Amino acid sequence: MINASLKQLSAQLAAKKISSVELTQLYLDRIAALNPDLNAYITVNPELSLAQAREADARIAAGKAEALTGIPIAQKDIFCAKGWLTTCGSKMLHNFVSPYDAHVIGQFNNAGAVNLGKTNMDEFAMGSSNETSYYGPVKNPWDKTRVPGGSSGGTAAAVAARLCAAATGTDTGGSIRQPAALCGVSGLKPTYGVCSRYGMIAFASSLDQAGPMAKSAEDLALLLNVMAGFDERDSTSLQREREDYARDLAKPLNGLRIGLPKEFFAEGLGNDVGLAVQAAITEYKKLGATVVDISLPNSRLSVPVYYVLAPAEASSNLSRFDGVRYGYRAPEYVDLADLYEKSRAQGFGTEVKRRILIGTYVLSHGYYDAYYIKAQKIRRLIAQDFSNAFKQCDIIMGPTSPSTAFKLGEKGDDPVQMYLSDIYTIAVNLAGLPGMSIPCGFGENAMPVGLQIIGNYFDEARMLNAAHQYQLATDWHSRAPQGL
Ligand code: GLN
Repeated sequence: MINASLKQLSAQLAAKKISSVELTQLYLDRIAALNPDLNAYITVNPELSLAQAREADARIAAGKAEALTGIPIAQKDIFCAKGWLTTCGSKMLHNFVSPYDAHVIGQFNNAGAVNLGKTNMDEFAMGSSNETSYYGPVKNPWDKTRVPGGSSGGTAAAVAARLCAAATGTDTGGSIRQPAALCGVSGLKPTYGVCSRYGMIAFASSLDQAGPMAKSAEDLALLLNVMAGFDERDSTSLQREREDYARDLAKPLNGLRIGLPKEFFAEGLGNDVGLAVQAAITEYKKLGATVVDISLPNSRLSVPVYYVLAPAEASSNLSRFDGVRYGYRAPEYVDLADLYEKSRAQGFGTEVKRRILIGTYVLSHGYYDAYYIKAQKIRRLIAQDFSNAFKQCDIIMGPTSPSTAFKLGEKGDDPVQMYLSDIYTIAVNLAGLPGMSIPCGFGENAMPVGLQIIGNYFDEARMLNAAHQYQLATDWHSRAPQGL
């Protein structure tokens, strides 16, 4: 049951082979047994989950089930969910019970899915290893001495360890794709604006995007069908006709033109990762695709540009955490300014403070033009690189991350090394393009390797098609960590 696809689970529920309550309990039992060690969840609330499961069972009995009705889905703890503790991995929100649902959560509720719990994450989604969480690091289920990646590390570990049927993540600079790669699962960041950001705690608003994480591309398509959609409460939500992201899964890949950016296969890429990615490209050729060499000349600037823009936006977004409106408040203070200062000093962790300092610096008078405006201009050039590349190819492929999962604590005191984990993913966010990662083999120490697939705007269905066809021909995605 724990290795079943969403489609199979749905069929089992429809045939009454299992009830949603039983399925939910099965996962709750696994979480109770395995989570104390893995730390993939911050919050489980069996009462709330089982209440939803009972409702789902009634809906199934009434013949009103949809694709995800009754299926237990874990939610990254960045999504506000009514009645659930919603911490964003921070002490600042350690006591925040959300009074409302994020749009994405509302969509899952309407579909009759069960919220199985809130997954661990880097504090305010800032990190690539899940080590900045106030709730402690998550362990990679493939090797518990290693990181799961971040910031959606709890979600990636929960999917890999089969502690949920599927789950959500968010991706500002790689936080769905990089942990998916490091934990051997599939993850997709849609085109910016496809999923509403309403109720998703903001990090860098022009980059943040929600997306699904699951065992396969086929599952991702079903999840995205539920998550996507226009929402007037997010001014950047796109008003588009509903689409079925699973519609092209079965298409053959004959004639698909895959662009390989030379910058993604250059210095800095781990040998083991490069070999697995090249083997995946060979498989794609067998499936009928052709390969084109392309160049993204400005992609080398994506990390520095991101670390100007993302902190700038974060410093503004995080100003709302002042100890007054919600969340943590310092127990002792002398006046209002002292209350703000102490609450923020005590409530935020080191990485978050570092970003706020960088952000306020690059936005300050005298530096704004030199850093912030400059970075915005380069952001445009990076996006243009992709537009040019998509004149020559239909889809872009390369590694998701330069290395497989590194050791817990290994990059803890070197933020720049940590920032380089996202060297292949960040440009996609800067351009607002859709990107995904699927498992494509194992590298050093038998750790999973991810293949990144980047599409043109709104080309999610084509990316999912390419991923699904590969997953029909290979079995990397169905491998699961043993002996947990
Ligand atoms: N690792 C990147 C950062 O620390 C990206 C995080 C994300 O995508 N949320 O900002």
